[in-house]
Amino acid sequence: MDKVIIIKYGELSTKKDNINYFIKVLKNNIISSLDNLDYNITYDKTRMFIYSNNLEEVIKRLKNVFGIHKFTIGYKIDNNMDTISKSSLELLKDKEFNTFKVITKRSNKSYPLNSMEVSKKIGAYLLKNIKGIKVDVHNPDLFLNIEIRKDDAYIYFEDIMGIGGYPVSTLGKGLLMLSGGIDSPVAGYLAMKRGIKIECVYFEAPPHTSLEAKNKVLELARKLAIYNTEIKVHIINFTEIEETIYKEIPNNYLITIMRRMMYRISEILCKRNNCKIIINGESIGQVASQTLTSMNAINKVVDIPVIRPVACFDKLEIINLANKIDTYNTSILPFEDCCTIFVPKHPVINPDIRKCEEYEKLIPYQDMIYNAIKTSQVIKINPHQRDKEYEDIL
Ligand code: ATP
Ligand code: MG
Repeated sequence: MDKVIIIKYGELSTKKDNINYFIKVLKNNIISSLDNLDYNITYDKTRMFIYSNNLEEVIKRLKNVFGIHKFTIGYKIDNNMDTISKSSLELLKDKEFNTFKVITKRSNKSYPLNSMEVSKKIGAYLLKNIKGIKVDVHNPDLFLNIEIRKDDAYIYFEDIMGIGGYPVSTLGKGLLMLSGGIDSPVAGYLAMKRGIKIECVYFEAPPHTSLEAKNKVLELARKLAIYNTEIKVHIINFTEIEETIYKEIPNNYLITIMRRMMYRISEILCKRNNCKIIINGESIGQVASQTLTSMNAINKVVDIPVIRPVACFDKLEIINLANKIDTYNTSILPFEDCCTIFVPKHPVINPDIRKCEEYEKLIPYQDMIYNAIKTSQVIKINPHQRDKEYEDIL
């Protein structure tokens, strides 16, 4: 009996017209997630099968692949009734149960018995050969699943839950504004769950922000890359913009104008990298720049959708998710982000868009944006390899 992981497509099977595309992307994402493991993968329209001599590690990695709703460990056998009966008996020897139910699925419609007949025969065989057990069709201790296919059959027991969602990149690409905080990694995770592949942009302001702050962001990107196959991080030097704003613009509008610059740069990066949307970790009401009026004044400068997956979450809900995806402990490391250094005492809560536009006339922001993008650095992060560029920075 070969042990095999069987992946069930679940929600994906509702994507009737696009199912082949979804499955192909899922397969490619699984292959990336199993990087540097020994395995063999086959698939068809209803199931994917993975063979490996390191099933434990494969299972660990599959639990981080979006688009997998359920999978199970199965046993591949010949599809004749004699083998199915004997194999079922052998597999049940190690299991503790009093009641059971046999469920048969038959994709091979020319098989001599129908599903009900197979279940009945196997059930009767088990009752005869294992003492003290009973059939319970409503609430059994154990389900014995049998799938009969054209050339073989599979036996399996309980399901293992996957993380669900859609396979990353089936919905295209988005650009995540990734800071070192708690919110933006969670926002990125939620976007990936909806099938969006992410690239990240990080605004740094050396020497006001440290190398540790940058490394922290790259470490967060590495944690997100587990779900994304790999992540490109665009690092933008924001120092000139930030210092000029600090010098020329009224103190209470610093953050609003800085964020308008970040949005403008993000939009250009989106266009250059085929990202359809901007994603960020803004959460309504959390800080002055996240009031509805602020969000409006900041959003005005771009012509591309901005999604804010944690917009309506409480901080506690965000923290819970951050813990679940293991970014929280990195996020709370105490390195200053570029926004936090220049935070004014009394940031405007209801910024006036006309004022923003007037103030921006005081600085040559187009040139500065152009410079910042021209000198940007790109780092690719693969979750299973410590790549060279990344090592060079550490
Ligand atoms: P976070 O916890 O994610 O840092 P925050 O509550 O500190 O969020 P802000 O600093 O106002 O909120 O930033 C809101 C969002 O803007 C962040 O979630 C992130 O998406 C983006 N952002 C802020 N600073 C940066 C930065 N230096 N680089 C890239 N994106 C940033
Ligand atoms: Mg922040």
